[in-house]
Amino acid sequence: MKLDVLAIAAHPDDVELTCGGTLLKMAEKGYKTGILDLTEGEMGTRGTPETRAKEAATAAKLLKVSWRGTLGVPDSDVQPSRAHKLSLAKVIRELRPRTVILPYWEARHPDHYHASTLGYEGCFLAGLKQLPLEGEPYRPFKILYATSFEGMPPTFIVDVTKQYEIRRRAILAFRSQFRPARSERKQRVYLAIDELDPKMDLLARHYGQMIGVKYGEPFLQKELMAVEDIVALPVRSI
Ligand SMILES: [Zn+2]
Repeated sequence: MKLDVLAIAAHPDDVELTCGGTLLKMAEKGYKTGILDLTEGEMGTRGTPETRAKEAATAAKLLKVSWRGTLGVPDSDVQPSRAHKLSLAKVIRELRPRTVILPYWEARHPDHYHASTLGYEGCFLAGLKQLPLEGEPYRPFKILYATSFEGMPPTFIVDVTKQYEIRRRAILAFRSQFRPARSERKQRVYLAIDELDPKMDLLARHYGQMIGVKYGEPFLQKELMAVEDIVALPVRSI
């Protein structure tokens, strides 16, 4: 399989929350997209890994991704270790994505910033010819960082206004996380759906407003953007 875009993140639902709309938009353009969850999210406060796997499959279907897999890294212990980097490099060689989306490199949750490093270094290793690893050497062309919950000014924003409602449904597919069973409602850690929904809406509107649309998803890249045609540039200045 040859993917155009592969989004890599620590836990199932991370990708949906940061760049689900963009993945859907790319699939609608005809690109082959994929999601690699580094862990099964087995340390999640609620639900079992089996439930989350089912929820992840539902979300993947909504976002029209061609491939979704799990790397098998232990949840809450996403370290950029040699072993994890090699197994990630193997997946990169199999899927050969042109563009890879990683979590932004700073985060509150150690799994998220470690996922960023592990993702980058796995992509790098995948291109080394002498690596004792099966598969043709391959390195993605572009690495982007999805950054929804951080204060960093993005490099660019993708208009996901048309994809927003399905993105929302893909996030809500993880209902065991956001809609706890009645018996679990007294737990102290409580990610209530009525808090998550307006918060998602607010963030996507905030980034959308920055480019003059209703909903947007922000990204960073470490390189500068090259522009071919300054007359065709979007986003009104005055
Ligand atoms: Zn996460």
